[in-house]
Amino acid sequence: MPWSLLIKNGTVVDGSGAPGVVADVALEGDRIAAIGPNLAGEAARTIDAKGLMVAPGFIDIHSHSDLVYDKCPGAESKVRQGVTTEVVGMCGFSPGPIAPGRADAVRDWIGGIGNKPPATWHSFGEYLDFLRGLGTSVNVVQFVGHGALRLATVGGDNRPATADEQQQMERLLAEGLDAGAWGYSTGLVYAPSVYGSTEELIALAKSMATRGGLYFSHVRGEAGTLEKAYEEAIRIGEPLEKLRGPPVVHPGRQEIVHLGAARWVGIDVAGHVHAAGPGVRAIADCLIGGERWGSSSGSYGWDEVMVATSSRPELAGKNLAELARLTGKEPAHAMMDLVLSEHAGVSMVGFSQSEENVAIASADPHTMIGSDSLSLHSGPGPHPGKPHPRSYGTFPRVLGVYCREKRLFSWETAVHKMTGMPAGKLRLKDRGLVKAGFAADLALFDPKTVRDEATFPDPHRHPAGIPYVVVNGQVVVDGPRYNAVPAGRVLTR
Ligand SMILES: [Zn+2]
Repeated sequence: MPWSLLIKNGTVVDGSGAPGVVADVALEGDRIAAIGPNLAGEAARTIDAKGLMVAPGFIDIHSHSDLVYDKCPGAESKVRQGVTTEVVGMCGFSPGPIAPGRADAVRDWIGGIGNKPPATWHSFGEYLDFLRGLGTSVNVVQFVGHGALRLATVGGDNRPATADEQQQMERLLAEGLDAGAWGYSTGLVYAPSVYGSTEELIALAKSMATRGGLYFSHVRGEAGTLEKAYEEAIRIGEPLEKLRGPPVVHPGRQEIVHLGAARWVGIDVAGHVHAAGPGVRAIADCLIGGERWGSSSGSYGWDEVMVATSSRPELAGKNLAELARLTGKEPAHAMMDLVLSEHAGVSMVGFSQSEENVAIASADPHTMIGSDSLSLHSGPGPHPGKPHPRSYGTFPRVLGVYCREKRLFSWETAVHKMTGMPAGKLRLKDRGLVKAGFAADLALFDPKTVRDEATFPDPHRHPAGIPYVVVNGQVVVDGPRYNAVPAGRVLTR
């Protein structure tokens, strides 16, 4: 039988961290069939990969694309980077489950990031069926968001869950795991996940024991409160570690602190503003006169917060100092007026972290690479504004800047952090390596030219030097062409 695709003469960097070797890779349908020098046999199609590295498709270990897949199933901004699998349902956000009568609350909650999903499902399984029906171009590893569990039971209230509500949350989580979720996530600086107590979260983690499941967390603090926040994360993850081996956030204080810095240069994705209502005006009055204002991420100057998306496109890309000049108001009032007039539907980029810390963190042997961003596409569509450039550039930036230019690690290590390592943490059985029998997810990149092209003023730009990306045997990135075919799958455990 002829190969469906034969990739010749590339340097195979297999994702395990082992040194790259020049070899051919042959595919049969959605599987890798053979790897070796000078593979013989006919092929329906042959790609000459001389000068390219042939790596497993990248795994984005922290993504929020589940909030936009209904508008952007082709996931172009991710796949063009070499990403073939996204881990979503992060930071406590997930589109399901939804309790009867709560669809509007969920749409408003998620919609603040820029897209209101249809929310036509109730159970987590029904949501996964909707996702399958969309036919995404990437594989999806979906977690249950703690915020969704809370909205379905406690609602948006800032109070502890009753014993009955706790039981309901555990039941919904169990249903989610049975339907194919990989675990649950928290976003302990975002409403309503932030209202959950440590005990509530430990009980939820323990409830996963018999089914298995991982715990991912956007922890409860940064800067001055970082250490306490990680202590809490470890306490919550501990029962899982005892039962199932090392958790995703692995203890060891210094490493953990590094992990905390491991987010992209300076910025939290669409720092979702939840405040709205009359109390906001009082907050604005408190802020006036301050050069810098505190937040869970430390402190910001007015010129360090940029409007990313707004229903008024002319404001996207303006920082709060500029917004103040434009409106003739104090920056705090200008900001609050904007938040109120858009019902908290604006998103921001905050410049609060140093690139040096990100470099240190990404070189740590325990860190993986996640974009913490959305799958977008560059053409006309529902994603205007100036989103953080990491939506388009995370993986090629690590390859081009941190690996090639700064030489923080080898190509093999860079690829391992994006493939074999996350696959191991997730216990993905047949992805994350270029290996015979494994799924045919591949990213082909040119080590001499791979780089991110997206910038803050011009974020909707695809990277250079990644000419081919294969998802389950289908060539999605094919030179300059993008085939937004439904090549991806909803992966279940
Ligand atoms: Zn996140």
